[in-house]
Amino acid sequence: MSTLVGSTRSDVKIKKNRIRLYFYIGTVVPVFVFMFVYSLTITNSIKKQHIASIDQLSESILIEKKLFIKNSVEQAIYIIDNIYLGKDDETEAKFQLSSDEKTAFENKVRRYLYGLKFIDKDQYIWINSIIDFNGGDDYAQRLIHPNLPETEGGLLSTNTIDFQGNKPYEVELAGIREQGELFNSYYFKKMGSNEVSNKLSYAKLYEPLNWVVATGIYLDDLENYIELERQKLNEVYDSQKLTSTILVAMTMLFTAILIYLFERNISRLVYSYEKEISGYSRELEKLSTTDKLTGLSNRLFLDGILEKVLEKSKRYKTPFSIILIDIDHFKNVNDTFGHQAGDTLLKEFSALLKSNTRSSDAVGRWGGEEFLIICMESGQQGAVQLAETLRGKIATFDFSIVSGASASFGVSSFLEEDTPERIIERADKALYQAKRQGRNRVVVSASGLS
Ligand code: GH3
Ligand code: MG
Ligand code: MG
Repeated sequence: MSTLVGSTRSDVKIKKNRIRLYFYIGTVVPVFVFMFVYSLTITNSIKKQHIASIDQLSESILIEKKLFIKNSVEQAIYIIDNIYLGKDDETEAKFQLSSDEKTAFENKVRRYLYGLKFIDKDQYIWINSIIDFNGGDDYAQRLIHPNLPETEGGLLSTNTIDFQGNKPYEVELAGIREQGELFNSYYFKKMGSNEVSNKLSYAKLYEPLNWVVATGIYLDDLENYIELERQKLNEVYDSQKLTSTILVAMTMLFTAILIYLFERNISRLVYSYEKEISGYSRELEKLSTTDKLTGLSNRLFLDGILEKVLEKSKRYKTPFSIILIDIDHFKNVNDTFGHQAGDTLLKEFSALLKSNTRSSDAVGRWGGEEFLIICMESGQQGAVQLAETLRGKIATFDFSIVSGASASFGVSSFLEEDTPERIIERADKALYQAKRQGRNRVVVSASGLS
């Protein structure tokens, strides 16, 4: 019985640990996977946002720069126009300048353009005068060029190629011819240096004189600026990523702690229930193995013990004996003094048996006023001796209500081929003999010699 309970308990422990494992896998794993995916999604979206904002930035800067250079040229043209229109005469004749007047006008414009200051130190406005709109060698004359004054007066060709093999003059002329203006990108040396850079220019035709007024900015400055902005954004991105990673890690940790605490509380609750239940089951076990009136072991328990002892004796060839006891004329006690008095006698009788046997012996109530003692590792002689002692004590004991009570004893000892029924039957027969022979005596089972 106890081994059965033991194995059940260890099974329960294994099951509990398995449930605990499933619980952790079932809660921690999904939470961690979710948080991991969530953090990946967040950092990914931050990255996308980051790339988009850099693209947007470079685009808006380029638009702003384009507007700026276009505005520079248009402003210059407006001023040139005013310088030119400074003459009072507004007729067509005003375009018919004399050579001197023309030189003076050009010098005025030159002074104005040389004096212009831009935020970007590499920016300036230059003017080419178109000779032939069809292009070719000598299609135009460089009129004003603050960056390369020594080239002023020189003739330009649409066949000129830049450092990348493009023909910027040809492209420019085509744009001027078709729309009167254009944005153009090509490679050119920076002012006062030999560094070749990507330049974005805007050129517009000043029709009255067939001048192409143009300005440009170097895109690598822009790229440097964007790179700087990109670095700044990268720093922001990194710190955002770090923050979100820390947040996710903290949430994970927090969740793990919560899950752990939850599990621990549940386990404690289960443990307290278990303790309560095991308390009940111990009580129940005691109740089911004890006789209520006398407090001795009951028949069910004695049956179990007898079976075990028999098994053990068969295996190890050790002796054991049993003593079956029946109170003499007990019916008379009930009839004379009442049932209550009978119960009192049963209790006192039981206490007497218990106090005169070894703790290793099993003493129990076999039925009504019958008792059984299983004498562990005792041969017949020892058992008879015990029975005699008990008989003597009972016969001389001063019971509270009944005086002169006695009992009869049947003793049987273990035989090789015994079963619980057989050994009991022999003791029962011996007891019957004791009754027949006049009670208050010990009789040994005839076949129980050992
Ligand atoms: P004998 O000497 O032949 O054994 O005679 P006896 O009167 O003891 O035997 P019998 O079997 O005729 O009577 C036993 C009586 O025990 C009958 C029953 O009412 C009584 N009895 C059984 N259990 C209890 C109990 O728990 N309390 C009380 N008061 N009486 C009980
Ligand atoms: Mg009886
Ligand atoms: Mg009796």
